[in-house]
Amino acid sequence: MSHGTHETIREALLWASRFFEEKGVRSPQFNAEVLLQHVLGIDRTKMLVRLQDAFPVEAREAFASVVQKRGEQVPLQHLTGVQEFYGRPFFVSGDVLIPRPETELLIERILQEKGSIDAPLIVDIGTGSGAIALTLALEWPAAQVVTVDISPDALAMARRNAENLGVADRVEFLQGDLVTPLIERGLRPDIVVSNPPYIPTADCETLDVEVRDHEPRLALDGGEDGLYPYRVICSALPALWPEQGPALVAYEVGINQDQAVEQMIRAVLPVGETGIVPDWQGIGRVIWGKRGE
Ligand code: GLN
Repeated sequence: MSHGTHETIREALLWASRFFEEKGVRSPQFNAEVLLQHVLGIDRTKMLVRLQDAFPVEAREAFASVVQKRGEQVPLQHLTGVQEFYGRPFFVSGDVLIPRPETELLIERILQEKGSIDAPLIVDIGTGSGAIALTLALEWPAAQVVTVDISPDALAMARRNAENLGVADRVEFLQGDLVTPLIERGLRPDIVVSNPPYIPTADCETLDVEVRDHEPRLALDGGEDGLYPYRVICSALPALWPEQGPALVAYEVGINQDQAVEQMIRAVLPVGETGIVPDWQGIGRVIWGKRGE
């Protein structure tokens, strides 16, 4: 790929945008703008007022390189290194799932318990970048937060995000598989939250190339029917929750998994409430169960 014949910032944007269009990258203009801002280290307003300025020669190579990679379906967030979640920046890489906007629904459901569960111990199973756990720590200052991930690289990223967001002192990081490190330590969380891998193994091959080839399989593949992690966590809930008092579990689930997961929660929650929160597409996205007083 040539560097394109762009003398000005406007021309550079046009060039990248056309290239993305050719390559079938969705939202070509948006992608061009974000990468240009990233490479030049400027915000959108600065970019707009400088459209007629010369594109800095020393930044050409770097811009051409990220544009080329984006054309090869490398996720935008892997090129900029960040994704915003609940209004805050999270560092991401190929070691963690890129936080998705629908996961903010999980945050909102949990924060509804602020009036009913006092100073909770919250555990986030499969924390990845830490988006869920760290957002909860920041939005619920009285909470103690524990994160679990099987991947040491994911935990390192979550820790880096905790430090960047200034909550590292209230968050603990445990390496291990699903509930295992919690049981080993005898932790009794009041709130269990998880956005586990939930894609059925066979469907992993049919995901968008960006997801399939660049995001960790460990964060996507939920076993044959995609429900394996929910089975493991649900069956551990009676032993995990405190012996008394209100307790909550809230999961993100994949398409058409809402009923099955709600059933699993019901099976371990003879007395209590369960509910499903739909996302903007009407897909049952958050499933929760609450044990009363
Ligand atoms: N929402 C992600 C996707 O569709 C999957 C995340 C997960 O398995 N928890 O790519």
